[in-house]
Amino acid sequence: MEWKRVKAELLAVGRVALKGEDCRAYISRSTAGPTAGGEGSVFFSVGGRRVRLSVDPASPLLLHHEGAGKAVIVSGGHGREPLRGVLENPGLHCPRQAYITLSERCIFSCRYCTVPRLHGRVKCPEEVLEKVKGVLDRVDAVSITSGVAESLDQEEKQVLDVVRRVVPLGKPVGVSVYPTLRTPDLLHDLGVAEVKWNLEAATPALFARMCPGLDYDLMWRALRRSVELFGEGAVCSNVIVGLGESDGEMARCINDLTRAGVIPVLRPLSPAAELAGWSRPTADRLLRLLGIQEQALRDSGLDPRRVRTMCTACTGCDLTPGRDT
Ligand code: SF4
Repeated sequence: MEWKRVKAELLAVGRVALKGEDCRAYISRSTAGPTAGGEGSVFFSVGGRRVRLSVDPASPLLLHHEGAGKAVIVSGGHGREPLRGVLENPGLHCPRQAYITLSERCIFSCRYCTVPRLHGRVKCPEEVLEKVKGVLDRVDAVSITSGVAESLDQEEKQVLDVVRRVVPLGKPVGVSVYPTLRTPDLLHDLGVAEVKWNLEAATPALFARMCPGLDYDLMWRALRRSVELFGEGAVCSNVIVGLGESDGEMARCINDLTRAGVIPVLRPLSPAAELAGWSRPTADRLLRLLGIQEQALRDSGLDPRRVRTMCTACTGCDLTPGRDT
């Protein structure tokens, strides 16, 4: 079976029960986004291509760890061939990157996100620098994300303080936070390589319903300004699949982004927080949207394989054209 089909089916389940040898060294614990908290997740890779799966003892997918990272995934019941691969070392959050969350808390309350409920801590710039230095010899990039602990201005200041310290370490730096209109210029001036401002929802109406208090128009303005500064293909945007949008609405959003020089990251919904009872998108839908995304990227001359930081480089949670296909 083709890798993209295998990965789509794994993403449609999204979680795995761990069996066999101790896996603790391979478990990554997320402090940002909908999968923050919980039992963590593992990165399973086959021939250099990876998928991230949340750890859940009740999952119909079983991952048997044979030791030293060698693992096999079997699905409870429906007779698929066992899938052999390896567990990857998670680095800081994800393999080959120091991906740091500054504020593990948020004053906003997007309906799909657990971060506001966790009341996590805020890391200081010195702590971040030490963490990054500790893994520098085994990562290719440094990526920074954050909730909004107090205010947008305060958060921006915090991010800039961290960026000033990590850019001189010599790895490409990517930043994904909730921006203000000046954030793209400020980060560009400091030598950041890539940015990711997340539209989150395929339409403004869905965004308004899912992310009260956040500004869809601001995201678009920040995206457009960022393409002017960082260049086409150095700006990404996560859009969640499964918030109630139609395929047509998602196709429009994908094409709007690629025409603007932005690489869309199509993120399958991880039902959590207020959306805990919702369903993940099916494998067939993910593959259908992947086809639309591939065509849109081709039409605009954008190549996700050139992105060096954050989700487009990691690929753990999404089907990524060029890397998974
Ligand atoms: S794709 Fe993004 S959110 Fe998912 S594990 Fe990788 S860096 Fe983290």
